[in-house]
Amino acid sequence: MEVGFDLVGITTAEPLEDRRHGFEAWLSEGNHSTLDYLTRNIDKRFNPQLLVDGARSVIVCAVSYLSPASRGYSDGCRTKIASYALARDYHLTIKEMLFELGNRLGSEVEGLKFRAFTDSAPLAEKSLAVRAGLGWIGRNSLLVTPDYGSMILLGELVINQDVDSYDSPTTGSHCGSCHACVDNCPNGAILESRLIDTRRCISCRTIEREGSDEQPPLHGWIFGCDSCQSVCPYNRRAPLHKNPRFDSVIDISTIDEERLRAMSEEEFEQLAGSTPLTRSGLERICRNIGK
Ligand code: SF4
Ligand code: SF4
Repeated sequence: MEVGFDLVGITTAEPLEDRRHGFEAWLSEGNHSTLDYLTRNIDKRFNPQLLVDGARSVIVCAVSYLSPASRGYSDGCRTKIASYALARDYHLTIKEMLFELGNRLGSEVEGLKFRAFTDSAPLAEKSLAVRAGLGWIGRNSLLVTPDYGSMILLGELVINQDVDSYDSPTTGSHCGSCHACVDNCPNGAILESRLIDTRRCISCRTIEREGSDEQPPLHGWIFGCDSCQSVCPYNRRAPLHKNPRFDSVIDISTIDEERLRAMSEEEFEQLAGSTPLTRSGLERICRNIGK
């Protein structure tokens, strides 16, 4: 696609009841931990028509960010960073791409109105992606696509018009007998229900708001965690990303404990100012070293 997405599918804006029940059961067991925002707006999360007035269809887009760093770090590395976070903040990049797409469509389709979302509003993105035929929910709770694996980022355009034909949903799981993600999660955070216990998940605990829960061991990760993705066979055979907007802006070979601990806030801003690492900040990142 010209605007730079690798995959696109279109589904209706009708409610997504099937996934909602599992999500509510997951919440009732306290697996969301301190991520209280997940308990709010559940009706909207599973019904785009409640989120956007007049919503009729959802265009679900995905783009790969898979880079050499996505393949994993050397044993003993104490400064591992999830590979998506080495590039410019995807919230900004994907929003720009979605607006480009929406404006192009708007110039061709009379009366078209859209709203763009990327991991920024209560919207069951992965469930919409399944219904739009992009892939299935893997054992590690992530969307897995046949050709690009799970190291992809999602964005949606909710539009006010029906389309001539919708994509067929992906049915079932294509994980087969594979359990690699479950076996490789260092904290056993992956639940049978294809959901995550956020209390034990390194990705959640290093990125989201710090809560009162005891911090689980971080196994060398200082921001995010790719352990359940780097072993996924679909990621192992997926191509590296093609869209240069997702090129790494941080050279991980230059990052080590000594450099981070000696770094000033100004240097950190220069190094990582455009990336999601700023969501944590230098102080917290340094605190995560060796935990
Ligand atoms: S992100 Fe890391 S800690 Fe979280 S489920 Fe995956 S492997 Fe486990
Ligand atoms: S590692 Fe295996 S079980 Fe996990 S998401 Fe990938 S294919 Fe599915």
